[in-house]
Amino acid sequence: MRDDALAGKKSGGRKLVIAIDGPAGSGKSTLAALLARKYNYTNIETGAMYRALAFKAMQSGASLNDEKTLAALADKSRIELVPNPAGNRVMLDGDDVTECLRSQAVTDAASKVSVHPAVREWMVAAQRKIGAGGGIVMEGRDIGTKVFPDAEVKIFLDAAPEIRGTRRFQQSPAAATHEASVVAELQARDHRDRTRANSPLEPAADAVLIDSTYLTLDQVLARAVEVIESRMSHIQESEMQA
Ligand code: C5P
Repeated sequence: MRDDALAGKKSGGRKLVIAIDGPAGSGKSTLAALLARKYNYTNIETGAMYRALAFKAMQSGASLNDEKTLAALADKSRIELVPNPAGNRVMLDGDDVTECLRSQAVTDAASKVSVHPAVREWMVAAQRKIGAGGGIVMEGRDIGTKVFPDAEVKIFLDAAPEIRGTRRFQQSPAAATHEASVVAELQARDHRDRTRANSPLEPAADAVLIDSTYLTLDQVLARAVEVIESRMSHIQESEMQA
């Protein structure tokens, strides 16, 4: 039986919301993509939505500190994630902007636009709409705490900052001259995410914490699958008793 068919059976046919949160470079995107493929769920990278808005703000010359203008810009935007075997494509107002979103400038700008409550409200509403039918793996910073506080599965993926920086550096060494600068940049983004007033980065009280500092990707995946399948069995049991 295929994994997705098995998942459907184990969770009583219900399509779940799997929330994966954690700091930059913890491996969330890789894990989310693997899980989405395994269960035939839709993978939603919410960071890409913040990046798309940040890119639009940069293009239009809007100040990254101007909450009102950024919220108005969001209101006029159409941000879509289009599934693709090689990873989601990010569409902004109908244009494929995927390749424009990974630069350091957009990364910094996304971190800055994401502190504004009005921007977050817009994003959270859009993300709830996308995930309303379930059958999604949604990854970000506030999915288990704010976007889907009732998600059936919540995983908080973390790793030591130096390890996260080194992994990021190894993914794209050409983009940065010094490993130390990648670590410093990750720490600055983390600090902003963890200390903002509106939905800071923190594990939901009922999230399962996976620390990947000393784990391989296969080990992280195995642990996540264990968490998900135990939740699925639990849901099926409760539905049979109801
Ligand atoms: O995950 P990614 O690095 O692409 O996210 C870019 C930025 O968007 C992060 O640094 C974070 O500040 C912000 N973000 C957020 N909430 C989310 C997803 C991303 O604040 N759910």
